[in-house]
Parts: sequence; C-alpha cells; structure tokens
Amino acid sequence: MITVSGPSGAGKTTICRELKNRTSGIDYIVSATSRPKRDGETEGQDYFFVTENQFKDKIKKDEFLEWAVVHGFYYGTPLDQVENTLKNDNICLLDLDVQGAAKLLAKYPLAITIFVLPPSPESLELRLKRRGTESSAEYEKRIENAGDELKNIGLYKYAVRNDDIEEALRQIQSIITAEKCLVDAELIKEVESWIIKILE
Ligand code: 5GP
Repeated sequence: MITVSGPSGAGKTTICRELKNRTSGIDYIVSATSRPKRDGETEGQDYFFVTENQFKDKIKKDEFLEWAVVHGFYYGTPLDQVENTLKNDNICLLDLDVQGAAKLLAKYPLAITIFVLPPSPESLELRLKRRGTESSAEYEKRIENAGDELKNIGLYKYAVRNDDIEEALRQIQSIITAEKCLVDAELIKEVESWIIKILE
C-alpha cells in the first residue's frame, strides 16, 4: 500500500499517473468523489464521479476502505479495487488527503506514506492559479487547506520535493525498491526453511 498526499498543486496527480504508467505491478486505485468533474477528467480514470446521495449510500453499504470530506466534497477509496489488487499481489497506489492517510495507517500500519511537497510556498500558489481549474472561492479554500495538509507532514514516513518531476519519480521509485528489500516476517520464514534444508 502506497499513499501519496500533499497540498493541491503539489503535483500528486501527475506523479501517480506516471508511476502507474512506468512501473509494473502497480495499480492506481481510482477514488469515488462527489466533486463535479473538471474539464479534461475522465470517468473511471481520474475518479468515479457520483452524487452526494450516491456517495452516502456507498458509505452505508461499507463500500469504502476509507472516506473523507475534502474541500467540502466527499472522496473515498473503493474497497473492491483494493481487494482485487492485493489478491493479484500488486501494489495499491492511492492519492489520499491527510485524513485518508491516517485512516489507511490505522488499518495498514506498514503502508508507505509519501508526502509530496511543492518547491516553495510561492510555487504552490502559482501552480494552483496556473492550473485554473478552480473558481476563486475554491482556490481560496484549497490554499487554506494546504496549510492544514502541511501541518500533518509528521504523519508521513517519506517526503519528496517536486522541483523536478523526473527526479521526484526517481525518488519514489527508490523508496518502493527500498521498501521491497525490507526484512519482513515472510522473508524470515523463507530463510528459516533454507536453514532447515542446509542443515539436513
Ligand atoms: P482533487 O479534487 O484535487 O482531485 O482532490 C482533492 C483532495 O482529495 C486531494 O488532496 C486528494 O489527495 C484527496 N483525495 C482523492 N481521493 C481521495 C480518497 O479516496 N480519499 C481521501 N481521503 N482523499 C482523497
């Protein structure tokens, strides 16, 4: 389980898209949201766009691994996608806000949590303005929320500064490689079986 978080405009969407395209064995989990679709977004690829009532119905039916209200809209991780990915022994790549990352860690304490930082506070404002996908009220809300997201950086295991997308991707791929090399219970069991064979 890998979650990428960070303030709006830090570049999480590009990072997730490129990671998915360039790395085998990674499934990007497409969230459901009650946020209206932006120009250029594709249903089922960027999000599953649902109404607030449909979202609440899914909460009642326990269809989410986690869900949260972000910038005034509902966002949630569909449980069935996560289960399918894990069944296929693939890595789940999630794009979650800080509330979602905290909920993920409560369920999967070994989840890899990565915070994506913009190069500077000024660049964050600039990127969000240049993106031009939000109304001015929405823009203000996102800038305000950026402060709340940044306050929670201590929750994360890794931070990647997105000055340069290629370098940020290289760093995240290195994190994934390092995490794959961790000594875990499964490996210890395998090595124990080796010891038995060697000593036979
Ligand atoms: P945006 O509207 O810009 O696509 O996303 C807004 C925020 O919602 C981002 O911080 C993103 O990380 C977060 N987000 C997207 N999907 C989910 C989700 O399934 N759960 C949670 N908790 N946050 C999400």
